[in-house]
Amino acid sequence: MGWMQDLIRTLLSELGEDPDREGLLNTPRRVEKAMAFLTSGYHADIDQVLNGALFTVDYSEMVIVKDIDFYSLCEHHLLPFFGKCHVAYIPSNRVIGLSKIPRLVDVFSRRLQVQERLTAQIAETICEKISPLGVGVVMEATHLCMSMRGVEKQNSCAVTSAMLGAFRDTARTRMEFLELLKLAGGTGSVRHGMSATLACVADE
Ligand SMILES: [Zn+2]
Repeated sequence: MGWMQDLIRTLLSELGEDPDREGLLNTPRRVEKAMAFLTSGYHADIDQVLNGALFTVDYSEMVIVKDIDFYSLCEHHLLPFFGKCHVAYIPSNRVIGLSKIPRLVDVFSRRLQVQERLTAQIAETICEKISPLGVGVVMEATHLCMSMRGVEKQNSCAVTSAMLGAFRDTARTRMEFLELLKLAGGTGSVRHGMSATLACVADE
């Protein structure tokens, strides 16, 4: 039995459980496997993920991928936060294959995260890989560490955004992106930078 399984057995005991009762016998093995998957983004190689999917184009209109499901773990409580991610960019001369954007979101989601950093990492990586004219990323998430513990029940959906290049500098570009999101998912309240106080806070 590996170290992690030992730790989970100990955790079960500390919680007041009997790790030897039938229902819990295989729990350490299952939790180890689940945690390895949920944090597999640490071992992912971005260039390998994007391999062969960066293309040179003569196209400079906004590219948008909306409603990407994501699941992550809050680094303060090791509890899930999950929701939708919306990505937009304006190419300068390169684009990323559309199917690779959700893969990129997975790579950074499958780590211990805070929502603000996750949002920024996705935007910065796209910037780094294809040097677009601008990138916008908006994430809307429910944090179980807040809703399950009864914290901020009324505002348990946290919205974060990262706006780079034209999305930061040009209000019209930013508004075009946010308008398209509003039409799609009813995310009418998305505003740049509004949300830092809504996302999970390391309160203890
Ligand atoms: Zn948390």
